Amino acid sequence: MEPIFGFILFFVATLIATIVASKRGRSGWLVFLACAGGGFLMVILVSRAGGGGAGAAFGAFLAPLAALVWALSSSTSQQLAVENGEHGDFKKCPFCAEPVRREAVKCRHCQSDLSHQP
Ligand SMILES: [Zn+2]
Repeated sequence: MEPIFGFILFFVATLIATIVASKRGRSGWLVFLACAGGGFLMVILVSRAGGGGAGAAFGAFLAPLAALVWALSSSTSQQLAVENGEHGDFKKCPFCAEPVRREAVKCRHCQSDLSHQP
């Protein structure tokens, strides 16, 4: 495999992990930097251990892969809103405890009026 293809694949994998993380209310840029840094570090470590190009490429892929698993297994904004009262674009409905959008004036679960809530 040409090195440039490995780099492009790594970049795409990192991008997917970044998008998934940001959709789950995580800092996308932080994940992106962690993947780039982690991948770079793995390439250096594997190369120093004499792993060769394929080993280095595989090692680099572990970073975005781990980030993707972490992003998928972590709680969504809606789950965090229920746990903490509010998170990201969501808040917990005080009447039915379901997550609703922060701008909502009416709960979509129990139809309660939320316009006077703080
Ligand atoms: Zn409700």
